[in-house]
Amino acid sequence: MSDTDRPTMSTAPHMYIHYCEETGCNEWGSWGNSQSAAAPTRWWCFEHFPHKTYEQEQVLRRRLEAAGVDVQ
Ligand SMILES: [Zn+2]
Repeated sequence: MSDTDRPTMSTAPHMYIHYCEETGCNEWGSWGNSQSAAAPTRWWCFEHFPHKTYEQEQVLRRRLEAAGVDVQ
């Protein structure tokens, strides 16, 4: 049995896996933000995304309330 005929995994697949960077959160990070073109993009789920607009914040609140989550 040989390993040489298998495709090498030393090069990462081009698809970039990015989950929410909030500690303990395992949600998919569909909301990215980059401070500049040179800065790497950081990713969060909608709930933890720290750059939401006021309108987006209201949407999240309504969503949480609809789900029965107690929001202040
Ligand atoms: Zn999150």
